Amino acid sequence: IIDVRGVWKRFGSAEVLKGIDLQIKKSEVTCIIGPSGSGKSTLLRCIAFLEEYSEGEIYIEGELLGFSLENGGRRRVSDAEVDRVRRNVGFVFQQFNLWPHMSALENVAMPLKLSRGMAREEAARRARAMLEKVGLGHRAQAYPSQLSGGQQQRVGIARALAMEPHIMLFDEPTSALDPELVGEVLQVMRDLASEGMTMAVVTHEMGFAAQVADTVMFIDHGIIAASGSPNEVFRENANPRLRQFLQNYF
Ligand code: ATP
Ligand code: MG
Repeated sequence: IIDVRGVWKRFGSAEVLKGIDLQIKKSEVTCIIGPSGSGKSTLLRCIAFLEEYSEGEIYIEGELLGFSLENGGRRRVSDAEVDRVRRNVGFVFQQFNLWPHMSALENVAMPLKLSRGMAREEAARRARAMLEKVGLGHRAQAYPSQLSGGQQQRVGIARALAMEPHIMLFDEPTSALDPELVGEVLQVMRDLASEGMTMAVVTHEMGFAAQVADTVMFIDHGIIAASGSPNEVFRENANPRLRQFLQNYF
């Protein structure tokens, strides 16, 4: 469902992704781990085309993202075409990015109205259902400043889910949270995984990765240096950089 082939990303002379190959199959959960600055966020941002990749190909549900191939070269397609291909990809950020002057309900409903052209009542109905799904039906009228960090992040997840994505990308969704609030967000993600959502999750929550991931990938200096089942990556893989990285967690 996601197919990344030989992807490079450069910022000027800095090579941040250096030939990434990865596949994520339908209903699978892939957790991406690695040191700060290794390229985890850049990879997710390329998959959502929030960042234009420099080389290689990314296919979303069989369609090439961002470019068309012709005469051995590639051409950037229109923004509308980019939006069409990534329409089924949802993104949850470390910072919740909620609109502070809108209620939880309005935060979830607004993108439905703006980018799906949904009528007000229908958008509100779906937004309410999504808030209930993440356990926040009773807080629909609250403003972000009246919600805890964990609740705000659950609104962020509800907002992404309201667009009915086939694939959800999470970039350190719990890293900005106080430790006691991490669990409620991970629980929502666990529920999503068990419903069969296809997910790629950048995370430092190794317990979550061990329990929920089908595949764990270790990115180091822009390369996938290890990849496999949680058991293979956490226990069996002998890559010294990986072992050193994991020492911080186990
Ligand atoms: P962290 O764990 O700290 O979030 P990360 O693995 O997500 O790190 P990235 O944010 O992908 O790392 O960044 C990888 C490298 O790319 C870093 O060296 C960063 O400075 C560089 N980088 C990221 N975005 C840009 C940008 N817009 N312009 C220039 N360099 C960038
Ligand atoms: Mg990052």
